[in-house]
Amino acid sequence: MDLTTPVEEIPRVGPQYQARLKRLGIKTVGELFFHFPFRYEDFSDITPISVLEVGKTACVQGEIADIKNIRIFKRRMTITEARVADESGVTRVTWFNQPYLINTFKKGDFVFLAGKTTSKNGKKYLSSPAYEKIPPRFIGNGAKYDSVHTGRIIPVYPETEGMSSRWLRFIIKPLLVKLKNEIPEFLPEEIKIKYNLMPVKEAVWQIHFPDVLEKADLAKKRFVFEELFELALIILREKLKLAREKATAIPIDLELIKKFTAKLPFKLTVDQKKSAWQILKDLEKPKPMNRLLDGDVGSGKTVVAVMAALNTVRAGFQVAFMAPTEILTKQHSKTVKDLLKGFKLNIGLITGKENLFNGKKIKRIDLLEKTKSGKIDILIGTHALVREKVEFKNLGLAIIDEQHRFGIEQRAKLCRKQSFLPHLLSMSATPIPRTLALTIYGDLDLSLIKEVPKGRKKIITRIVPPEKRRESYDFIRQEVKSGRQVFVICPRIEADTEKESWAEVKAVKKEYEKLSKEIFPDLNVGMLHGKMKVDEKEDVLKSFRNKKIGVLVSTSVIEVGIDFPNATLMMIEGAEKFGLAQLHQFRGRVGRGKHQSFCFLFSEFQSNPRLKAMVSSQDGFELAEKDLKLRGPGDLTGQRQWGIPDFVMASLRDIELVEKTRAAAKEILKEDPELKKYPSLKRELEELQTRTHLE
Ligand code: ADP
Ligand code: MG
Repeated sequence: MDLTTPVEEIPRVGPQYQARLKRLGIKTVGELFFHFPFRYEDFSDITPISVLEVGKTACVQGEIADIKNIRIFKRRMTITEARVADESGVTRVTWFNQPYLINTFKKGDFVFLAGKTTSKNGKKYLSSPAYEKIPPRFIGNGAKYDSVHTGRIIPVYPETEGMSSRWLRFIIKPLLVKLKNEIPEFLPEEIKIKYNLMPVKEAVWQIHFPDVLEKADLAKKRFVFEELFELALIILREKLKLAREKATAIPIDLELIKKFTAKLPFKLTVDQKKSAWQILKDLEKPKPMNRLLDGDVGSGKTVVAVMAALNTVRAGFQVAFMAPTEILTKQHSKTVKDLLKGFKLNIGLITGKENLFNGKKIKRIDLLEKTKSGKIDILIGTHALVREKVEFKNLGLAIIDEQHRFGIEQRAKLCRKQSFLPHLLSMSATPIPRTLALTIYGDLDLSLIKEVPKGRKKIITRIVPPEKRRESYDFIRQEVKSGRQVFVICPRIEADTEKESWAEVKAVKKEYEKLSKEIFPDLNVGMLHGKMKVDEKEDVLKSFRNKKIGVLVSTSVIEVGIDFPNATLMMIEGAEKFGLAQLHQFRGRVGRGKHQSFCFLFSEFQSNPRLKAMVSSQDGFELAEKDLKLRGPGDLTGQRQWGIPDFVMASLRDIELVEKTRAAAKEILKEDPELKKYPSLKRELEELQTRTHLE
């Protein structure tokens, strides 16, 4: 047995538990060791029975005086009642519906019991305590029994997938005793010394079974450091690698840019101009640009990207423009076409099922040929762009919308046969706080569009308590009757399993039934959820765009970046269940046209700080900062839409730590950029990297 032993071969883990572990992504003993507790109970002090206090939790050590089962037939339940004595006194103990306990304990056994003291009819009970038998050889001779569930600080694990903390402790402890010395150390010795970090073997032990709580904290600190350090190494190495690569220099054509801006139906904002200039300056250099254009939904990123695309094409190079969904590629191709009207560019579109050349259907093979020969100036597409082995004649710029990370390898895939890399412009509508940007996008240059185009009306945002529901429905009806459209978002159901994601669909169907039959029988109500086929989704969105649907009920899957200027009302059910970032994203679906827009947050929780923040601010960057502050360390709400691996989340608020880990990573790379001295660390990084990249 070693760290790579699969969970199937762990003694006492049956098929059901094997499946549960696998659902948590735990396949080996080594991975089980990295399933950490999220808090502890301190049962290390033994309380004399005579001083047990009602309402308090305590651990006692005593001898079973008697134990019996009492059946209560009417309530179909069994109470196991025992009396336990130590030198100071006797207490009653009860357990509910665990009749087998009378076979576990017999009179004269020594036990640890840890739990809450309650009182009934004036008698004190230790109520359903955690229990553990103490072998007789530890009694009366001062020898310390190394207990698992009581009599020490015990770990409490997130109880998901039907695995209790008791079960996890029972399985993990003996394995740890046996194998902890085999856990590999990835942190360089000098880093551990300099930053005073606990060695991994000790840290894994202390995080599960700490001697004192301070040691659990030190262990946690070590792992957080390690995670951030590894992430910093990945990012810095990628940056070093990129610095050695060549790109093509694309000169700025000022006349062309002037002509483009003159044709726009609006004036660019200062932030748009600034960002565009930063991008154009990057393109001029013979090394690959790596820039993130970050701005709220509707802040006007696409125009900036299209300007860069035009400049690239006119310099004689091609542009690839990638978006995460077919719907978004369609939207982009329309925008690109509109903005570049009169510039006579050839625009292609490639998705999993469609191939268009200047808006007309063509065969995939012909589209690929036109791309290869250079006929196509801008090729817009989904991930098919990378997957389908598209060959460009000379790709100068790749624009990627809503993709969280896109490394050198992916970039190289876009231009297999070229001697140079394309410049890369990533776009994100998720405003990113500074600490996050530093950590996750540390290798990117950042252009921010903080300013919203002029003339946009403020979106009126309200928290709607249950008693105002009727009124709000009436308001919604008025809006729809006067030609506007409404989104309804259903409460989120954390869907980690197949079953749960169907529960979300069920909730949407129910809401749809309610709204279409009871509340708005006079309006056209539509429905959208993640389990629908792509075609079905497109049909619904088309009907919404054509205004055949007035009220669209949806799960939280509603696509990022979708643009429906006629939608003016965003209504969110169970709003308190969402993270701030996500609420803000939802709100960004409205307020895109000339009409006054509204966001209704349905919730019983009037004073929820996230909802209040939504009412008081509309600035995505400000809200993102707030979100990071509001989130407790263990609460990872909103993590998914940030697109960040779990392991970094908890510690991102700690700027100082983030900076320290970056400094440590730099020190190591300065001496040894290829990490020759640290082969196991290098391997670990490579593995991490494949896991973090969204492919
Ligand atoms: P993003 O991609 O950042 O969500 P878009 O580029 O799609 O935003 O822009 C949203 C809408 O705002 C588009 O209809 C666009 O034409 C318009 N727009 C962009 N920039 C400006 C501006 N400076 N003034 C007015 N409207 C603008
Ligand atoms: Mg956009």
